[in-house]
This record gives sequence, structure tokens and C-alpha cells, in this order.
Amino acid sequence: MKGRARSVPVLMYHHVSSSPGMITVSPEHFGAQMAYLERAGYRTLGSQQLSAYLAGEPVPAKSVVLTFDDGYLDNWVHAHPVLQRHGFTALCFLVTSWPRDGEVRPNASSAVNLTELPRLLNHREGELAIRSGRADEAILRWSEIDAMRVAGTFEFHSHTHTHERWDLITPNRDEKRARLTDDLIAARQMLEARLGDVSDHLCWPQGYYDEDYQQIALDAGFRNFYTCHTGANESDHGRALTAGRSINRLEVRDRPASWLASRLWVHSRPALSRAYLRIKR
Ligand SMILES: [Zn+2]
Repeated sequence: MKGRARSVPVLMYHHVSSSPGMITVSPEHFGAQMAYLERAGYRTLGSQQLSAYLAGEPVPAKSVVLTFDDGYLDNWVHAHPVLQRHGFTALCFLVTSWPRDGEVRPNASSAVNLTELPRLLNHREGELAIRSGRADEAILRWSEIDAMRVAGTFEFHSHTHTHERWDLITPNRDEKRARLTDDLIAARQMLEARLGDVSDHLCWPQGYYDEDYQQIALDAGFRNFYTCHTGANESDHGRALTAGRSINRLEVRDRPASWLASRLWVHSRPALSRAYLRIKR
């Protein structure tokens, strides 16, 4: 598989943390997975390189995209130092109403000993903290987001302002459309104010989208939509982006590097990836 990539796998992470959970990868497994990527000769693509590839520009085989959803504090504590060590870049999708201001907290590379690290909530505790106005205990601060951007370990993109599923909250279609529009605009304004720019990459909350969602997101200027569908990502060879493009992702489990290696092997090969998904279904 030398030469050009036939597919770019996009990996989906949420938590990297020692507090276990369904969508949590342990720091040990994450470290081993990233060490494997480097050893195997993978390079990480940023969002612009991914969209250029999808539009038809060649990238080397063994290109991969790392994504993190929701912007958890543990991404700073455990993922950032590992990415920095390997010279890797990841995309993080922020829910822009969640981050707070405050000083940068210790992380796994800055802490002198482990007792200095902030306490990390598991996923369910984090959800509860966010709902009860204590998002800061679970979520990245703007200062940490800045530090990650400066280090080049993370880019930050929109995951809406509220992470709400408007299709479930209101049965009224016009209201759903209006609330989603407000949600995307608020996120865009926050990212512009805090980071100075905003991309056309958007991650759907809970992976949900329908025709209304797609149309409203297109109207709000987004073109690259990150889903929770498993699969390869092949170039669309410059097809007009009027409908935007959906990006498949592989959910990374709390498993050793060998597990990740086998997933990448399958989903770097479009025909094999399709056959594999057919059998799995
Ligand atoms: Zn999410």
C-alpha cells in the first residue's frame, strides 16, 4: 500500500481517561495506539488536508485523521501530551457553550506527580456536571484550548453551541429549524470571538442529522459533516459541494494497538471496508 491513499480513515475518540466508561480509552491504550501509528509510518492530516484529499488531491497512503468529540478536560490532561510527543494533530469538536475561563490546569506532561492532575469525571458524572452548571469540571477551558492550538496538537471546530437534539425536543418542524439555526450561529460567533476563525467542518451531536439539519448547516456555511457512520473515506474528485459531504468515522475502543491496526487495515481499503460492513450488518 505504498503511494497514494485510496481511503483516509477518520478515527473518533471521546474520552482518554483513567475513569472508565463506554466511550473512554485508557491513557495506556491511547499511548500504545499513537505509538503504533508512528511506528507503522502513519501521518495525521488536519481538517484542510482532509477536505483537500476528499476534493481530489492525493495524500500518501497511511494518512489518518484523529477526531475528539465534545472537548473533554481529559483531552488536555492525557491526549495532548501524547500527541505532542508524536508530532500528531487531531480535530476537536467543541460544544461552545461549555468551556469556561480560568487558568490552565496541570496535565500528564506538566504535573510533577499524578496527584497534581485534576480529578477526571467519568462520562456519566461529566454529563451530570454539565447539566448542573459545573461544566468546568468536565470540559476544556479556553486557556487550555489556546495552549493546544499553539502547540499544534489540536484544531477546534464546531459541535454546535448546545449539543441539543432539536428534533427530539420539539415536534414542531419550524421551531426545530429555528432552534438549530440559532444553535449553529451561536457556535460560529463563539468560535470566531474566541479563536479568531471558524471552519466549515461540523460534527453532528450524537451523529444525528436529517434533511433539515443538512440544509440549515449548509446555509450556515458548513460543508464537511462528521458522522458516526463507520466506513472508508474516498475522494469525491471535485464533485460540487452543494450538498456538503459526509465523513465516516471509526469509533476507537479501549483496546490494544493491534485492534486499531486491524481496523485501519480494513478501512484503508474501500472495497474491503464495504464488504466488511455488509457482513457485519
Ligand atoms: Zn458529542
